[in-house]
This record gives sequence, C-alpha cells and structure tokens, in this order.
Amino acid sequence: MNEPVPYLDLPAQMRPIRKEIDAAISRALDNCSFCLGPDVVQFEKDFATYCGAEHCVAFNSGTSALHVAMLLLNVGPGDEVITTPTTFVATSWAISYTGARPVFVDIEDPTFNMDPALIAKAITPKTKAVMPVHLYGHPFAVDPILDVCKKHNLPLVEDAAQAHGARYKGRMIGTFGAVSCFSFYPGKNLGAYGEGGGLVTNDAALAARARALREHGSTVRYYHDEVGFNYRMEGIQGAVLGVKLKHLDAWTRERRRLAARYHELLADTPLQLPREAAYAESACHLYVVRHADRDNLKKHLDANRIGCALHYPVPLHLQKCYANLGYKPGDFPVAEKAACQCLSLPVYPELGDARVERVAASIREFFGK
Ligand SMILES: *Cc1c(COP(=O)(O)O)cnc(C)c1O
Repeated sequence: MNEPVPYLDLPAQMRPIRKEIDAAISRALDNCSFCLGPDVVQFEKDFATYCGAEHCVAFNSGTSALHVAMLLLNVGPGDEVITTPTTFVATSWAISYTGARPVFVDIEDPTFNMDPALIAKAITPKTKAVMPVHLYGHPFAVDPILDVCKKHNLPLVEDAAQAHGARYKGRMIGTFGAVSCFSFYPGKNLGAYGEGGGLVTNDAALAARARALREHGSTVRYYHDEVGFNYRMEGIQGAVLGVKLKHLDAWTRERRRLAARYHELLADTPLQLPREAAYAESACHLYVVRHADRDNLKKHLDANRIGCALHYPVPLHLQKCYANLGYKPGDFPVAEKAACQCLSLPVYPELGDARVERVAASIREFFGK
C-alpha cells in the first residue's frame, strides 16, 4: 500500500534544522525578551535586507500588518480600497477593520491575480489605495498596476503573504508598493512556530508610525499619540524566523524544482497547469491546477490518501460576511470559475520526487492515462 502524501509536512521541515532552532529558542529564553527584543530587531534587519528594502516592522500576524498598512495610508470610514476577490479573507479584513469598503475587481487567467485592465473602471473619488495579492507565490502584473496607480495618484499595497522571495522582472517583490505585507503563519513559505507578520517599506516615516501603531500608539512608554494596538511579534518567533530565513532561498529553489517536475508529469493530462508569466519568478507557495471535474478529482485523491486543498472555494464578494456590500454571483466570472475549478496539490521543499511522482500517477490514473 502506498504511503499517504500529506498536504503539508511541517515535521519534515523542522527535523533537519531542529538543532539550530533549539539553540536559537534557548538563547531567546535566556535573554527573556518575550515581546519584541533583540531577536526580533535582528530579524527585521535581516528580512528588510532580504527584500532589498529599507525597513521591516515585525508584527504578531500578517493580518495585523495589513491592518496597519491601511492605517498608514489613512484609510478610514467612507473610503474604498480596490482588491481582489480571489485571496485569503485577511486581505479584505484589513480594509474592513478601518471602516472602509473593499471594492473587488476580477482576476486574470491563468495567474489568478488582479486583472490590471479592470482597475481603472473601479476607481471612484473615494478610492484610497490599490491592494493586489501575489497569489500562490506568483507576482501580480506590477508595472501595469503601478501605471494605473500613478495615473490616479493612488498608493499601491502589496499583499505579499504568500510570496516571500518571488521576483518580478528579476527584482524581489515587496518594494514596489508604498507598503508591503508578509505573513509568517506556519504554513507560509517562511513560517514562524506560531503567528507572525511583517510590514516592509522604504519610507522611514511610515515605518516609524507602523512601529508606534504596533505598540499601543506609543514611542515613549505610557505616552500615546494615537489609538494603537498590541500587534507586537513575540521574541521567540523572531529567533525562529532568523534561523529559517537562512534556508528560505534553498527551500524556494526546491519548491520551484518540484513544481517543474509536476509540470513535466502532468503536461499531457486535461488539467490546466500553473504557468509562470514571462515577467515572473514564482515562490511556488501553492501548486494550483484547474479542471471542470475538480470535485471528483479531489475525491479520487482523498481516496488515495493524497492531501489536496481548495484555495479558495468561495470568492470574497460572495462570502456571507460581505452580503452587505451588495455583490452577486456573476459579478466576477473569472474569479467564480476559478473557485469551482482550482485544486491545490502538495508542494513543499520536503515533498521529494517520489511523492510528486505518486501524486502525478494518481492524477493520471483519474484521467485514464
Ligand atoms: C496568510 C495570508 C494573510 C494573513 O496572514 P496571517 O499571518 O495568517 O494573519 C493575508 N493575506 C494572504 C493572501 C494570506 O495568504
């Protein structure tokens, strides 16, 4: 009997780095800096350097970083922020938390990312920012989107939660927008051993305000310049992320190699496979295939004990929480079709060729290949 293929395998990722992690956590315990502290400061420096950015501000989650990004751009009640319906809901939470309204525009095939050609039509006098997502690790079309932003004098926010280390025309994502936000949730390409997030910017004033908002709106303890939050990263997460950042490029290379292997093994099946745009070097966070008979393919893989997942089964404009926004089925046909057809196959550095081959063989069997 074939071994099951887990959708994610965090124990396998931890095993080879366990000694480094134990030592880093042990040092963090010795210095008792549990909230922020030297490991977090060092990680902020290292991650900013990694992104080619001036500043990184560490948060207790990607969602918190996105929320603060909106506040930095003075988004508030009555404002609108343009984003994509095909993403994890935290993208639009950031907008909703401020009292502003998420305005969705449809995505493009095959990247699942915001369609630059549809943004201008969605802009109104209330629009305050544009926030696309580098979805599944594949960069969005930065230049055409920046063109629209510049033309309408709107700041760009990159939701880079799934795309650590991805490149657009050779340059690392995360420095194209006024602000960019990363998630260090355990399942992300760079994951903490708990929650974590990062806000990256080249603007010193924005970074300083982000630091204050993260810490109760204060720069001097017990003096509060504006209403803030407790959004601090834990010291231990900074220590863990510092260790893992050193491995990120090797992990991304392996993700990309395994994705290429899937591509070879599945090329002659009826699946629509992910394709990298000419401008893109994807971080391959997810390997998302498409097919009209997705639900039966998923049942087949489930029965064969192969982990797979749906990202995402319901586009945001059709979520119950956003019924008040007044969207209806048919508003974003590309996003709605993708939601019915997408299937995420396992892809992570520890997956290995044998398991990729087993997944591919099972899919080929489903299609009678
Ligand atoms: C994971 C994720 C987030 C939120 O990050 P958390 O760290 O889980 O709060 C935001 N946007 C996208 C696209 C994500 O995938």
